[in-house]
Amino acid sequence: MAFDIDMIKKVYAQMAERVDKAREITGKPLTLSEKILYSHLWDGNPDKAFQRGKDYVDFAPDRIACQDATAQMALLQFMQAGKKTVAVPTTVHCDHLIQAKQGAAPDLKRANETSNEVFDFLESVSNKYGIGFWKPGAGIIHQVVLENYAFPGGMMIGTDSHTVNAGGLGMVAIGVGGADAVDVMAGMPWELKFPKLIGVKLTGELNGWTASKDVILKVAGILTVKGGTGAIVEYFGPGAKNLSCTGKGTICNMGAEIGATTSTFGYDDAMERFLRATDRADIADEANKIREYLTGDDEVYANPETYFDQVIEIDLTTLRPHLNGPFTPDLATPVGQLGDKAKKNDWPIKVDWGLIGSCTNSSYEDLTRAASIAQQAIDKKLKPKSDFGINPGSEQIRFTAERDGLLDVFENLGATIFTNACGPCIGQWDRSDRKGDEKNTIVHSFNRNFSKRADGNPNTHAFVGSPEMVAAIAISGRLDFDPMNDTLLNDEGQEVKLDEPRGLELPPKGFEVDDNGYLAPREDGSSVEVKVANDSERLQLLEPFVPIKDSELQGVKLLIKAFGKCTTDHISMAGPWLRYRGHLDNIANNTLIGAVNAFNKQTNFVKNQFTGEYGGVPDVQREYKAKGVKTIVVGDHNYGEGSSREHAAMQPRHLGVAAVLVKSFARIHETNLKKQGMLGLTFDNEADYDKIQEDDTFNFVDIAEFAPNKPLTLEIVHKDGSKDTIKVNHTYNDAQIKWYREGSALNLIKKQNA
Ligand code: SF4
Repeated sequence: MAFDIDMIKKVYAQMAERVDKAREITGKPLTLSEKILYSHLWDGNPDKAFQRGKDYVDFAPDRIACQDATAQMALLQFMQAGKKTVAVPTTVHCDHLIQAKQGAAPDLKRANETSNEVFDFLESVSNKYGIGFWKPGAGIIHQVVLENYAFPGGMMIGTDSHTVNAGGLGMVAIGVGGADAVDVMAGMPWELKFPKLIGVKLTGELNGWTASKDVILKVAGILTVKGGTGAIVEYFGPGAKNLSCTGKGTICNMGAEIGATTSTFGYDDAMERFLRATDRADIADEANKIREYLTGDDEVYANPETYFDQVIEIDLTTLRPHLNGPFTPDLATPVGQLGDKAKKNDWPIKVDWGLIGSCTNSSYEDLTRAASIAQQAIDKKLKPKSDFGINPGSEQIRFTAERDGLLDVFENLGATIFTNACGPCIGQWDRSDRKGDEKNTIVHSFNRNFSKRADGNPNTHAFVGSPEMVAAIAISGRLDFDPMNDTLLNDEGQEVKLDEPRGLELPPKGFEVDDNGYLAPREDGSSVEVKVANDSERLQLLEPFVPIKDSELQGVKLLIKAFGKCTTDHISMAGPWLRYRGHLDNIANNTLIGAVNAFNKQTNFVKNQFTGEYGGVPDVQREYKAKGVKTIVVGDHNYGEGSSREHAAMQPRHLGVAAVLVKSFARIHETNLKKQGMLGLTFDNEADYDKIQEDDTFNFVDIAEFAPNKPLTLEIVHKDGSKDTIKVNHTYNDAQIKWYREGSALNLIKKQNA
């Protein structure tokens, strides 16, 4: 069953009552975000107004979605909670473990061979615990969710940062660590700091080469990768209504790239059209009955400065197409200005690949707009100068696009159609054209472009753009190409110009699919056996973490002082390591190998304070662990940005790291550290980062008094015996301190279940 209409009716029935109550209690009109938050309180009807950015609040999400890489650890954890079924509708989607190499059919076959035991484990555990299972090849989690499960006014969590994509259908959908998902699967509330609210008012209408993607590329340029931290971004205004539902999804999807908790849009005609086109007319009918509750109040949108913490206004009519990158999604450059910038920075102008797809931009509309450019190349006798790769978002999109001749257009241009899966977006890309670390440029319609993200090569300069712009740039083969003004020389030596892209919001003949790849779980899964081999390299049943004793926090050694950007990819790299996502001890061998050591600017090269020798981070850490010595990791700003993977917290925890001390955290990662029973701390004075030296030892002087809103005191003992005493802050509340004291949140759940 794709969705449960009775559950949605129930959500809508209580929404009106709770929103009215929330308006009364807060004494003001409400944004859409507030309406959804207040109508999903764990305790039912609202009885107090929450302070944004301050109060921790318990919520009751309607759904959970997990992808194959993160689901392994989440479900291994859930198995420990002692429950018969999941408490909240949950789905698992196999999309991350499929490598892009030769094309859909051979790539899927190979994935089914190489990751067989993982897929078998996920299918069996889903079957046992009442979880819907989407087979490999069924599609990318967020497109499948948008097409099947997202609904206006709903709240969902997912074990992937781009869960936020479902905001395109008017949800508050938030990426969480597996540990948070396990809480909700086990029937516990889900806790979140009540977010701040950023309003983005859209006026005008997209035209010409500008696409929905350019809205978020522009917003990323304004807010940067940190600008949305702790906030929900709510889009509104006449321009918002002019965007397709999947276009809204694209914008919400990349809200993850500005660190936002999530992004959302109010229910409108475009959403209704999408619901009806995806066989969910009954949801549209129900949503129409409470339409005014599924969007922000008029007064809020009329005077946004009064009701949002920050307001940005973008005129879609004058917005220009952008390409963002390289190496960070917030480095925004309008197309046409990239040539000079590239020359100045020595970025390769020649473009090797154009990749279209990912959960961000793989809708039917995206494919039609990109195909309209590809068709022109054929008609105007232009041979593409770059290679083309396409990942459709779901089997439903692929099947429909094939039926409508779109895939033929790309194939006629020499494109490789990869599996309906993440592929190159998550480093699952076996590139045939370049090996090693040669400097090169690619353009793609994905969301992330961190170093090594697509192909593992630190010198691949990846630029993010709309699918149609990616198509145009790939045809030209040049980063400095501006399709709005430049011409290209065709096979016959004529100068030709590409016309503006054209697309279809929805397939005129409707969506169609033969086998969408969904397997419903058994009604009663109690007799299903979960498949985990004892000698598996890829799956390992978990042991509970042992609480960190206060006495172990004296004489703590520095493992690494990370310099600059340290994302979850740096802490727990993806690519080839994805295969160990279900085996904690094996994957721990990649812990922090991408982080740059502040003392020598090298990666995976840190000093062992006992021997004075340098070695890889996991090796040195294992030596500390063998001696029973706890360690600390020090980091810069926005530490742990990127994905929601709790491995980035579990691995250091497993290896014996006790604390992470940084200038600032990315939200999900900070929570993940707390869930795993570690200390996540921030410098009270950022300049204290500079006091940390390579041979330092740390004493947590007052850890016995660990309490909410009370900074801790850290004594740093330097090699020459001199000392610095600094203040470090934390955001642990009472419940989170209990997690820490029990060794992990899961330990506490188990204790409570018992
Ligand atoms: Fe998959 Fe990339 Fe989307 Fe993540 S961002 S879900 S890796 S397509």
